[in-house]
Amino acid sequence: MGKNTKNQILKEIAIESASSDGKCVARWNNQVVFVEGLAPGDIADLRVIRKKRRHLEAVPERLIHPSEIRVVPFCQHFGVCGGCKWQHIAYENQLELKRQLVIDNLERIGGLSLPEVQETLPSPQTQYHRNKLEFTFSNRRWLDHEEILSGDILNRDGLGFHKPRQYDKIVDIDQCYLQKDPSNEIRNAIRSYAREHDLSFYDIRRKQGFLRNLIIRSTDGDQLMVIVQVGQDHPELQNLMDFIRGSYPDITSLQYVINNKGNETFFDLPVQLHSGQEYITESMGSLKFRIGAKSFYQTNNPQAHRMYDLIRKLARLSGKETVFDLYTGAGTIALYLADSAKQVVGVEQVPEAIEDAKENSRLNGIANCHFYTGDTKDLLEQEIINKHGKPQVIITDPPRSGMHVKVTAKIIELGPQQIVYVSCNPATQARDLALLDHHYQIKSVHPVDMFPHTAHVECVVLLELRK
Ligand code: SAH
Repeated sequence: MGKNTKNQILKEIAIESASSDGKCVARWNNQVVFVEGLAPGDIADLRVIRKKRRHLEAVPERLIHPSEIRVVPFCQHFGVCGGCKWQHIAYENQLELKRQLVIDNLERIGGLSLPEVQETLPSPQTQYHRNKLEFTFSNRRWLDHEEILSGDILNRDGLGFHKPRQYDKIVDIDQCYLQKDPSNEIRNAIRSYAREHDLSFYDIRRKQGFLRNLIIRSTDGDQLMVIVQVGQDHPELQNLMDFIRGSYPDITSLQYVINNKGNETFFDLPVQLHSGQEYITESMGSLKFRIGAKSFYQTNNPQAHRMYDLIRKLARLSGKETVFDLYTGAGTIALYLADSAKQVVGVEQVPEAIEDAKENSRLNGIANCHFYTGDTKDLLEQEIINKHGKPQVIITDPPRSGMHVKVTAKIIELGPQQIVYVSCNPATQARDLALLDHHYQIKSVHPVDMFPHTAHVECVVLLELRK
């Protein structure tokens, strides 16, 4: 294999498995090949597009024999949009691939020996299952071949999702199957209004332009939060917000953010209320959760409910325990477990989420949850232990980056009998479990499908203190 590997055609390659970024994995000449847009079980000719030190990257050149697990994707944007890369794979096979991803990560990265990994818990809904979508405005929408060939491109403004690996290109979305209506309707109406009124769509390369991003959050009970982010204040902003309110008077919470920073996160910026309330309220069983613009909430509520039931079952609480809920968000897991524990202590770094958590305690008449704002690595200190005692059970649900090493060390020091580790990234979970392995034994592993048609997998692991 020489320099010419690039563009080389690899003949009749059998696609073996899936990788966690939505690609597939094959082997050629003892090398790993990552390829997009295929399915495990396919046989295809591949064209190498990149040669890395440890692997090759390829694209399909010709599909010779389609895999038995393939189905026809239901979305017109499939293949271009980065949202649902697994729509061409039958749902039951997606579940098995996710289970395999968990096993691969925990065994390979963590070097862990595992009990039999449970089957992936399927999502109750596989369409319209998300309660939050984030769309980006761009003055450089992705153009398909037909449009380019027609030479008749009037408008390059778009509102939709990122084209994978092209940070400045946005796939203009007409209909998305991830969030129930009126999500599609609202997005399309805002885009039409913006085009008609000549509002500028953001230029990510030059970092200028008016309209930046649109967030739509919904609840199972039909409440709606709409947040518009703009690059600068402008007289047109109020007109746009008034248009949205006038067209959709049922929006529960209509807000906007003026953001002239280089990125789209707004945790450090004021979110301003245009009309309605500052929050929406979601229900889970008999509980109600108020969620503000800056608070995390699980994006698939019925499946989050199932996952919380699983967490409760695994934690085997008797009512006497002190439980710590690390990375608590708006306090949801803490409040869900409150009636089975003596007390639950939740920690979270976003102050607005902790305000929601405290309000959620009041809203549900729960008096035995206590919430603290700060970085988990700094909060597990003597002050909290003096106040609440050591926990017998820790629930931890960190972001994709996993837990800081100081947090894993602190958990070992606190020595709870049980840990339930909830993760949305099996790679960092594997790393953290390896750090805990000397002290904690893995009792069970439960993949959960929160995100149908994507390679993302949530994984709940029960750990017990070794004797
Ligand atoms: N357990 C919650 C939220 C999980 S998402 C639920 O089920 O809804 C992860 C949460 O961790 C987010 O709310 C995020 O703001 C918070 N977070 C991220 N890094 C953190 C850190 N270093 N310390 C504390 N909280 C953090």
